[in-house]
Amino acid sequence: MNTETATLQDKTQTSMSLLRKASELEAEISRLRGFEAAIPELIGKAREKLRKAEEDISSTEGKIQGLKKELREKEGEVSGFKDQIIQRRSKLTDVKTNKEYQALLSEIELLEKKIAANEERQLSIMEELDAMSAGLKEKKKDADAEKQKFEEIKKQKELEKTRLAEAIAEESGKKDEIFSRVDPKLVQQYDRLVVAGKRDAVVAYKFQACQACYGRTTPQEEVLMRRGDGIVICPQCSRFLYWGE
Ligand SMILES: [Zn+2]
Repeated sequence: MNTETATLQDKTQTSMSLLRKASELEAEISRLRGFEAAIPELIGKAREKLRKAEEDISSTEGKIQGLKKELREKEGEVSGFKDQIIQRRSKLTDVKTNKEYQALLSEIELLEKKIAANEERQLSIMEELDAMSAGLKEKKKDADAEKQKFEEIKKQKELEKTRLAEAIAEESGKKDEIFSRVDPKLVQQYDRLVVAGKRDAVVAYKFQACQACYGRTTPQEEVLMRRGDGIVICPQCSRFLYWGE
């Protein structure tokens, strides 16, 4: 073997081992990107419990507002009924017949019944309001605890995201450094594969087949691969092939 052939072989072997290393880094970067992409969803899930607790609070507050409104309306109705009773009582002395007198009395009685029923409802509203206000206090305490938990998870996940971004930058830097040592034409070919979705751009040739697509090369190319004597491309998927023993 003369010096020139030896150098060519070294160069090829070096290119292939660099491409393999780049491909490994590519896989690692893709794994890290997957973790990074999952973070917003994880934060969203953690927020869900807090969101439900807040929703529960606002729905209880809405119910409390509704009951307070009803209570004010009931109070207004009672004072209206009381006015009507006063009116009818003042008429009692003016009526001419016993029938009219009895009619006024039964109207007054009916109004008094309405007042009693109304006041009963007011009492039950007030009881409901007491229970709801106590419940609301508990709900707010729980929501505060949920909020604290969520903020902690969020902080932790954001920190994780920063660390992942740093790791991705570091691995990408290593990949760029490797590519700076490889023939630009090979880098271009590699990039084309990655862009086409073939992130595993460098694969083993094993059991007489490309381990990505099971395509086969020629016996001559098998020899080249075995010797590490040339860049062999899969005829079917165009990935770089190395001898996989
Ligand atoms: Zn293939």
